[in-house]
Amino acid sequence: MEDEAEYLERIANDVLAVLTARHFLEVLDDQMCPPDPAQPRAQCTGSYDVATSVLFQPGFESDDVADIIRVLQARRAHCDCEILLNVAENSLVSSQNLIKTNRDVINMPG
Ligand SMILES: [Zn+2]
Repeated sequence: MEDEAEYLERIANDVLAVLTARHFLEVLDDQMCPPDPAQPRAQCTGSYDVATSVLFQPGFESDDVADIIRVLQARRAHCDCEILLNVAENSLVSSQNLIKTNRDVINMPG
């Protein structure tokens, strides 16, 4: 029988492709580090609150969101800011801008 790690490895590429196609990391980054400093920042609370609010858009089923979170967890992203730190930097987006703003995220609680 397929174990959890094998399952996540099998779906990971699809999940990351969907996230890339939907600009998930860019949207998450914009919410946590808005380009306009006057905009309120979404704070990481050590959970996936911001990520799930970004993901629960038309076209995403709650089962899909659960799978996405599991894939992110398997990539050492255990909260909203760690998604930007660990997943964005390592695999999905090579944007220098995103990596730069990650340094701001480090200072957030969580
Ligand atoms: Zn965090």
